[in-house]
Amino acid sequence: MKKIELLAPAGDLERLKIAILYGADAVYLGGKQFSLRSRASNFDIEDIAKGVQFAKEHNAHVHVTVNMLPHEEDMDGLKEYLMELERVGVTAIIAASPTIMMCAKKYAPKLEVHVSTQHSSTNSAAANYWKSKGMDRVVLAREATLEEIKQSAKNSDVPLEVFLHGAMCISYSGRCVLSNNMTGRDANRGGCAQSCRWKYRLFEKDRQLNDDMHLFSMSSKDLMGADYVADLIEAGVASLKIEGRMKSAYYIATLVKAYRLLIDEIYEKGRLTPERMKWYYDELAKAENRPTGVGFFEGQPRYSGQLFGINGAGVTQEFIAYVLDYNEETKEATLEVRNNFKGHIEAEVFGPSITTTRFMFNDLYDMDGNVMEVAKTPMQIIKAKVPCKMEKDAMIRKVMVKDRREVY
Ligand code: SF4
Repeated sequence: MKKIELLAPAGDLERLKIAILYGADAVYLGGKQFSLRSRASNFDIEDIAKGVQFAKEHNAHVHVTVNMLPHEEDMDGLKEYLMELERVGVTAIIAASPTIMMCAKKYAPKLEVHVSTQHSSTNSAAANYWKSKGMDRVVLAREATLEEIKQSAKNSDVPLEVFLHGAMCISYSGRCVLSNNMTGRDANRGGCAQSCRWKYRLFEKDRQLNDDMHLFSMSSKDLMGADYVADLIEAGVASLKIEGRMKSAYYIATLVKAYRLLIDEIYEKGRLTPERMKWYYDELAKAENRPTGVGFFEGQPRYSGQLFGINGAGVTQEFIAYVLDYNEETKEATLEVRNNFKGHIEAEVFGPSITTTRFMFNDLYDMDGNVMEVAKTPMQIIKAKVPCKMEKDAMIRKVMVKDRREVY
């Protein structure tokens, strides 16, 4: 049986490499053209080619979102762009527009075409429809329940991709013009301003229903699907997707590492005990995300699936340093500072292959060997003697609270 794919977002080359090093089987990214979020993309075709090369060296794949719903004025250069993606070795495009899908099939036939979640496919008939049109994978809607995912996998023969973790749209996955109307930024051409998460006063005619201490926002909890990984494997789903092309390298590393271990452990041992799953919940909570819920897996989200008033990150740990090098003999690590921290604090290191370990920092040193009280300049290179094994590309986080329940 083919192992389920772990698919992670890549906002730039650094995050692409981190996702793959930490265990993603494939990454998806948006190019500067024909992609939602293209305004935020750092990937021109040369960078996509570099990403593909890195992925191939690590036995991974690159998918490119070409998921804009193009208007007439957006069509120039589409054919050439798709041919370029094929030439540099991209595995698949993720498309929503039939124009783009058919163009890829005609001019870049080696590219797989994955049907974007923007089509809101929630059943096997929809999946089979796309199969009949020659599509190679269907990304199911975030709104599909676990039962619908199982039925879709059982009754269709096209590979299915399922959202496992990340932000949810309060509308029906992007079928929303709130941002267009309030800011002039088109959600379906990559410009969503997340107007749903702003804070609002509510009025019934002239009467204000909420006071200014309790402003209203239409904000859903993020999805956290750890509890459903075993079900999705058993159902025969092809790919599990982490959302978040705008998220940090630390966020990506934390989630990919945890889900990589979880998937591998389920393949090795079957369903895990509640105690073991608790360890994974805690690991996933170390990413700086919003409070999480189960999305639509159990059916329509209710009150408990929404956030009222809470929109910021509930951080249990803070990313403080990136490990550039580790000397096994001298037990010395070379670190790139990301957030300020003092010596002699409790921290945790995790990395692509080392075991996640808590430790106490000893003294910190600048590159001239002077002891530092505080590492406070982001991107400064420093040295530290550390009591546990580290590795290049590992990350160090400061332990802020022991348990996420202390945050909420
Ligand atoms: S404004 Fe909110 S609900 Fe609308 S598309 Fe953007 S994220 Fe979704």
